[in-house]
Amino acid sequence: MRTPTDRDRSQYRNVWVVAEQREGVLKDVTFELLGAARKLAAARGCEVWAVLLGSGVRAMADACIRRGADVVVVVDDPRLEHFVDDAYAAALHALVARHKPEIVLCGATARGRALIPRVAVSLEAGLTADCTGLDIEAGTGVLLQTRPAFGGNIMATIKCTGHRPQMATVRPRVMSALDAQPGRTGRVIVESFPAAAREARMKVLEAVTDAKETVHLADARFIISGGRGMGGREGFKLLADFARLVDGAVGASRAAVDAGWVDYAHQVGQTGQTVQPKVYMACAISGQIQHLVGMQSSDLIIAINTNPDAPMMKLADYAIVGDVFEVVPALMQEARRT
Ligand code: FAD
Repeated sequence: MRTPTDRDRSQYRNVWVVAEQREGVLKDVTFELLGAARKLAAARGCEVWAVLLGSGVRAMADACIRRGADVVVVVDDPRLEHFVDDAYAAALHALVARHKPEIVLCGATARGRALIPRVAVSLEAGLTADCTGLDIEAGTGVLLQTRPAFGGNIMATIKCTGHRPQMATVRPRVMSALDAQPGRTGRVIVESFPAAAREARMKVLEAVTDAKETVHLADARFIISGGRGMGGREGFKLLADFARLVDGAVGASRAAVDAGWVDYAHQVGQTGQTVQPKVYMACAISGQIQHLVGMQSSDLIIAINTNPDAPMMKLADYAIVGDVFEVVPALMQEARRT
């Protein structure tokens, strides 16, 4: 592989966001990435482009523009009706090769994780997965991609100085979306599915929705999470009662999940879900970095802990020093009264 020269790199421009949609609805992560992309584009003095792949997706371009895209590139083709990573990767590869974006951002979702490594390899570009912070380095203009490393024990900032585009994935709920601007205008470029793309090796015969009840932590406005200090399943019953009372959802630290007190679907953090509720209440959770990366962008954080020096207590907007088994029932009593 030849290392690109400065001249090669200078041909790459603009920040791209790979939009994710399902059944005609754009996923929130698209808007969050557009929000992040606007800041990067401001630092680079360039445009934000969204890439919309699918069948019958043209109408969604306006929503991308209202949320921060200057340009939307659309490939609307029946071969993209179902998510087939071969076909999506061929389409995205062709667009990147033609338009040469400097930065490509994609959601670290099941689909993003299937798609973007294929494209990074075919473009001979690097890829930093699961970033929790993105910035532009002063002077060089290089993308600074921050993510937990070495089992979450350090936060590493990764630079891709050689190849272009610089590619990164970000989990849902890590970045903040901009509010929709109703009158915002932009350009829409309609492209064809690449003629040279080989036939996809996989065909979707039928899509079946899993009817199993799932924990919708990512959509919850109020999350009450418990840690090791909850002491057992009984402790989590108390949190479930509280969550019902305030129409919230129950989250958990990995320690509580590993102890078998609560299902993995509730786990928040590096190896669990990333959440961004209006209120995150951390009950008897110490606040190790692997937990914090999953909830630190919540709007309001309330911590209850017997240890005032626990990292979660330092991060919290409201830190209540006390025993959860006294504080939570008192809060529930108050909630019932109001
Ligand atoms: P502890 O750290 O033991 O803290 C318990 C807290 O409860 C203490 O602060 C204590 O003061 C308080 N307490 C005890 N009793 C009471 C009481 N009665 N009232 C009030 N407070 C009380 N962790 C995650 O959470 N999510 C992840 O996704 C995750 N991924 C990981 C990935 C890797 C690769 C690794 C190595 C670790 C990961 N961890 C993750 C684990 C993480 O490092 C911590 O071990 C874990 O978050 C600790 O959980 P905890 O805060 O519940 O327990």
